[in-house]
Amino acid sequence: MPENNILFTKEQIEELNKISALSPEEQKKILPNFLKKLSPEQIEFLQKQQGQQQCPFCLIAEKKIPAKKIYEDNNVMAVLDINPVTPGHTIIFPKKHFSILPQIPDVGNLFNLANKIASALFESLGAQGTNILVANGQLAGQNIPHVIVNVIPRYKDDKVNLNLEHKQANEEELNKTLEKIKQKANFKPKEDIKPQQIKKIKSHNYEERVP
Ligand SMILES: [Zn+2]
Repeated sequence: MPENNILFTKEQIEELNKISALSPEEQKKILPNFLKKLSPEQIEFLQKQQGQQQCPFCLIAEKKIPAKKIYEDNNVMAVLDINPVTPGHTIIFPKKHFSILPQIPDVGNLFNLANKIASALFESLGAQGTNILVANGQLAGQNIPHVIVNVIPRYKDDKVNLNLEHKQANEEELNKTLEKIKQKANFKPKEDIKPQQIKKIKSHNYEERVP
């Protein structure tokens, strides 16, 4: 049922509820006539909702499909990838449906958890490194439009190939690119890391573990 009561009239919501209770065959017969009466905004809303209902990560978050859950809180969830790149491959995602990173109000939740999971993979499985990867957008290789952060533990001789091809660029090209980016990336500098935080990181002995 649409959550947005302003977008739909009370009658339309009642009709939608009746339609959703029907079998898929019956829905097919009735839906075209119902959709004809709706505005493009209403149709777009319904299509979006339909997409979210079929999104596997939304379904995991709603406990409609089972998952090998490692962690969950109000905002984020971490589960084992059931087709792992290496043993312990974990995926972390917001429980709410966000297609790409810029839509997420606080990406810190995701990456803090990724960091903690990476630490757990070092300690539990003896990983010697991790790749923390996000495909942000379809063109970047994102198959499902729900943001996920992959934490892939790396082991000696694991034969995972993530070698990216670097190309040569000349000084002029680099400067042009730099200027374009800087125009849009003139953010305020963040506060320095406080001394106690640095101490905490050192206590994890990452310098020794990360190759
Ligand atoms: Zn989703």
